[in-house]
Amino acid sequence: MSASKYIFVTGGVTSSLGKGIISASLAKLLQSRGYRVTIQKLDPYINVDPGTLNPYEHGECYVTNDGAETDLDLGHYERFLNVPTSQANNVTTGSIYQTVINKERAGDYLGKTVQVIPHITDEIKRRIQLLGNTGQYDIIITEIGGTVGDIESLPFIESVRQLIWELGGSNTAVIHLTLLPYLSVTGELKTKPTQHSVKLLLEYGVQPDVLVCRSEKPVSLEIRRKIAQFCNVNLNAVIESLDASSIYDVPIMMLKEQLDKVILNKLKLAARQEPDLDNWKTFLGKLKNPVNEVRIGLVGKYVELHDAYKSINEALIHAGVANECRVNIEWIHSEKIDAKNVADKIQGLQGVIVAPGFGDRGIEGKIETIKYVRENDIPFLGICLGMQCAVIEFARNVLGFKDAHSTEMNPETKHPVIDMMAEQKGITAKGGTMRLGEYACTIVKGTRTAAVYGKSKIVERHRHRYEFNNKFLKRFEDAGMISSGINPDKELVEIVELKNHSWFIGVQFHPEYKSTVENPHPLFVKFVKASMEFKIV
Ligand code: GLN
Repeated sequence: MSASKYIFVTGGVTSSLGKGIISASLAKLLQSRGYRVTIQKLDPYINVDPGTLNPYEHGECYVTNDGAETDLDLGHYERFLNVPTSQANNVTTGSIYQTVINKERAGDYLGKTVQVIPHITDEIKRRIQLLGNTGQYDIIITEIGGTVGDIESLPFIESVRQLIWELGGSNTAVIHLTLLPYLSVTGELKTKPTQHSVKLLLEYGVQPDVLVCRSEKPVSLEIRRKIAQFCNVNLNAVIESLDASSIYDVPIMMLKEQLDKVILNKLKLAARQEPDLDNWKTFLGKLKNPVNEVRIGLVGKYVELHDAYKSINEALIHAGVANECRVNIEWIHSEKIDAKNVADKIQGLQGVIVAPGFGDRGIEGKIETIKYVRENDIPFLGICLGMQCAVIEFARNVLGFKDAHSTEMNPETKHPVIDMMAEQKGITAKGGTMRLGEYACTIVKGTRTAAVYGKSKIVERHRHRYEFNNKFLKRFEDAGMISSGINPDKELVEIVELKNHSWFIGVQFHPEYKSTVENPHPLFVKFVKASMEFKIV
């Protein structure tokens, strides 16, 4: 196929309708028909990327192989498609303006007034087509963040309008995701908000081709007809999207509604083959019919908002399926754990994860938790800050360095067992300046980590400024905490494990970003397995 085709996904009526999951599900169906598909997210905020956002604001910050700090929807795209995303897959208003303003300062527009139209919209259109121009994809799905009518997403919608005009109707399709509220008093689904939001899109010059209607009740033929007629779409382009018990059900639901066929038809693309979803269905079957159950604690400071740990949550689901086991997650707030209550908090758990994070809040609770799981031989996985806390705990309670800490929390400590990386010293800007993206790691032979991965060279994604301080390495290893994974270029300790413990591993990187339905991550799979084997006394 020569040029790529573009599908735009907009949202109406309310936010949080699941545009990311619908986009990923459609992409899955098209991919399983033999098309090369990628998904891009346009975010209307002014931050250049979400890396500087508090997780309470925006959920987890997802990191790509090439080190982009991105929206968590990119995690869904990778988990569904099993194809990596990149910097080009997430575009924010901030990054668009940054490019345009830098060009203006460089003199690229000399003599011209720089304006939203055409300069900002031209840059948006360029970013949308970047992925298509690589020649790697037949279809690009572009999800537009926010809700139609928001002032800040207007330039995105205008760019979509222009692109449809430039590329033509058979090269573009617009899906509008909307909500049909159910009024229990009258027992009806209401279509008016959908009609209004389509009207708003029309005001901006964009006619949707497909309406995906979120609903808690089945959408009757009569209602579909009404929506089709008042919103100018084909009857078969009114797609019902019922609340699902798992996000992984959605591709199958969209297949039943023939969303993929309607889109292929609009894009004048051949159906090729029936979607090959055998592996997906096997995954779903195991997800719905677990043979075992396990209780795992997730200790973090953002647990009120589960989206803050989205990828860890999903990686545990994948690992559960791999073990035919339902993983019940106990969300534990690190600020609420202390030496007195830690036994109560951990009671009944078969495994504990200490989560990534930044700053001081909740640190002592994480360290108390790790002391408890270390002393009670409970399976433990520490991720990034969770690994750093395991190092601090060991230094304090086994090596006897009472004031041991990370210089992130205590710059004055006499025992800086976690310290800022040399290359980070002197960096003051906060945005995009951490150690980000993929780095190689060599696994030490004969370790538990080696058994987990079953290979000696791995590549994992990072997002941190601090690292294990090698000055202390010998003391740790002599006392039983060994480095089982090392960065070959810089000798950084990437993984630690305990010799005298049945399953205790801390990783400086984020394995959760790489876990997909098709490729559950070995660290999570083996951690869940070890937890299943742990017997509560
Ligand atoms: N705050 C720590 C660091 O910057 C850990 C970061 C993380 O958990 N992602 O090194």
